[in-house]
Amino acid sequence: MDDLTEAFVELIRLTSTDLPADVEKSLVSAREQEAQGSAAVGALDTILENVSLARRESLPICQDTGTPIFYVNYPEGWSTRKLRGQIRNAVVEATKQSYLRPNAVDSVTDKNSGNNLGDDAFPTIHFEEVEGDELTVDLMLKGGGCENVGAQYSLPNGPLGAGRDLDGVRKVALDAVQKAQGQGCAPGFLGVAVGGDRGSSFDASKEVLLEKIDDANPDQALADLENRLTDDANEMGIGPMGFGGKTTVLGSKIKGLHRLPASFFVSISYMCWANRQKRMTIQGNSVTYS
Ligand code: SF4
Repeated sequence: MDDLTEAFVELIRLTSTDLPADVEKSLVSAREQEAQGSAAVGALDTILENVSLARRESLPICQDTGTPIFYVNYPEGWSTRKLRGQIRNAVVEATKQSYLRPNAVDSVTDKNSGNNLGDDAFPTIHFEEVEGDELTVDLMLKGGGCENVGAQYSLPNGPLGAGRDLDGVRKVALDAVQKAQGQGCAPGFLGVAVGGDRGSSFDASKEVLLEKIDDANPDQALADLENRLTDDANEMGIGPMGFGGKTTVLGSKIKGLHRLPASFFVSISYMCWANRQKRMTIQGNSVTYS
């Protein structure tokens, strides 16, 4: 295929308007856990109605369509320069069609570019060459409210009593959830990276959010920590949209990275309930979305 611009516009439309089935299912399950007549149920009902309306009317799920983050896995021989150009053209077109809100603001002049293009880092595009002949592109739309409450810790952390071990990771991640309350539109998802340097750690904490909710972590220690983190966060009682209740976090994903002996970073990316992501797969002339 020569020009994938139209296919990328469709990827953006679907990501912005059609919440993934596993995310919606987790919101429905959360509603069943909450006390009937509670503010938590009211908030979840409003969220679920919004999700259905957005899908039916092909309208953005949230007014903040976030930072578009593309993860492109391309076979040998594809031009990343051309793919970048087509993605950027698609972002401009999707903005014209109102699937994306103009969100790219020059931090020096404070001017909005009006078309969601900024420097090379806006939109964010990660490229990775892979085996085989299939091109896959994952798109995540990461809202500003939830991005603002992401956090990074350097262990050990004395005030939190967090040492350089998985219990220390749990303590700082829960501290991030506590500080995020009332912001970032709960219930949400925790992406946690353990290790790396400051940059790779934050990157990994976002990329791990691409995993499906039911995907099992192959590392049993991290799988156990994911479950514990979700349970402990839900004991905090922050609840949907901060109204109180049993559901603060819908799921947690953790990725372990190698680190320098001198460093032990823990990065937490919080993703709000509007966990918008889709995958486009291209093989030959066939394009599919999931
Ligand atoms: S945090 Fe999420 S749901 Fe809340 S305003 Fe931002 S994008 Fe929308």
